[in-house]
Amino acid sequence: MPYLDTSSCGRFLHALLDIILPPICHICHSYIPNAGTLHICAACRGLLPLVLSPLCPVCGIPFVGTGSDHTCGACLANPPHFNTARSPFLYEGAIRDLIHSFKYSQKTHLRNPLALLALEGVGGFLAEQKLHLIVPVPLHRSRLRQRGFNQAVLLGRVISRHTSLPMLTDALARTRPTTPQIDLSAAERRMNVKGAFTVNRPALVAGKRILLLDDVMTTGSTMDECAKELKKAGADVVVAATIARTARP
Ligand SMILES: [Zn+2]
Ligand SMILES: [Zn+2]
Repeated sequence: MPYLDTSSCGRFLHALLDIILPPICHICHSYIPNAGTLHICAACRGLLPLVLSPLCPVCGIPFVGTGSDHTCGACLANPPHFNTARSPFLYEGAIRDLIHSFKYSQKTHLRNPLALLALEGVGGFLAEQKLHLIVPVPLHRSRLRQRGFNQAVLLGRVISRHTSLPMLTDALARTRPTTPQIDLSAAERRMNVKGAFTVNRPALVAGKRILLLDDVMTTGSTMDECAKELKKAGADVVVAATIARTARP
């Protein structure tokens, strides 16, 4: 039997891993020899739609053109209950396709590249917030049964592993089913989620600095409603983060 030294062992494991998880780009499906943990090729990474400054430091919405960050009109008129919100990507192009496959085509393995890309983009900002724990935006049990998983929980597990922040999946609950926000106007979205969340275990969030996590942010009304309940239960700070957000409310 041939002797396997550590380097040939490593090569063998790499080869085995390539068979189980072929190094194919999640976006263009081309072969990438050094896929790393993301499995997204350099060309596709260069095309990802980033949220860049100038942006609103409160809700994270980017502004068109150049200049410095400043609070947007919507946040000045109606300050949200979360302290700040960030999304590293715009909800368009390849990011939109990846999130769509992740959520609606059961491609749950995409939680890894999505969460890792998000941490690359806003991990530094989140670290500065001195957070204590992660609270994923909950699904109503009827939606959970239908989909089979909560996308925010799957993303939260990856982020928890890489940040060492514990995740509380049962602190916040959705008390009634809501229409998908994507089909509604801004005013309808606010009404749709009003009173839809409750904090089950206030003692776990009181005095805490919380990372409120979801996959996509549009008007921010879901995040705002969740943050309102978390603050009512005594949360000290709520930082909302999503993988992607729309460019306009
Ligand atoms: Zn690619
Ligand atoms: Zn704003």
